[in-house]
Amino acid sequence: MTDSLRGKRQGLRDAALQWLMSLDWSGAPEPLAGKFRAIQPLPAATSRLVDLAAEWSHHSEWHPEAYSQFEKWRREDKRLRLWERNQRDKIIRRRNDQYRQFARDIVEDASSITINVLDLSALSRVDKPSGGENPLPAAARHYRTVAAISILRKFVIERAQKVGTNIIFSDAAKDRVCHSCQKPVNYAASPFTHQYVCETCGASFDKDLNSCRSMLMRVGTT
Ligand SMILES: [Zn+2]
Repeated sequence: MTDSLRGKRQGLRDAALQWLMSLDWSGAPEPLAGKFRAIQPLPAATSRLVDLAAEWSHHSEWHPEAYSQFEKWRREDKRLRLWERNQRDKIIRRRNDQYRQFARDIVEDASSITINVLDLSALSRVDKPSGGENPLPAAARHYRTVAAISILRKFVIERAQKVGTNIIFSDAAKDRVCHSCQKPVNYAASPFTHQYVCETCGASFDKDLNSCRSMLMRVGTT
């Protein structure tokens, strides 16, 4: 929904730009001509176009019909922008309600909560601070922004603290082992696949599930 609204805004903006470029600006009053020059090179930011509309309102005697047509675009863009923001807020509220429910369910069934200390913000960065590309596939980064797992984690922690459930922080990336044979695994050799086959015992598993099982085992033995 917000994606299609954004697409619609983009289309209207492109059309407005194209139409502006087709006008003859040679006789335009100087401050207005300056704002017109500021929208180039294309594609210009929407804020530049809004600046142009604001300036034009002071010179509306210059091509009044063109001004009112441009003003129509500005108002429509503003309407769509507010609608888009409204939709986004609604979706986020709904998602957070759902996450609070998940957090209640997770904590209710647990005697203790084990949480991976993984730096979630590092997942969404394209480049590692040390340089070089983030080995996480683009799709995983995309889902991270859509799903906002850091929010879910925050709610789980808050819920556990509220009802007094013990929270254990563990590092799934530390001493990675196969949950089946306890021997080290080498995820770096296949960073883009989710499924993994253990070199030692041949067990095939989902890396995330294996991380959870390994963390639970580590927590259970300490
Ligand atoms: Zn194994």
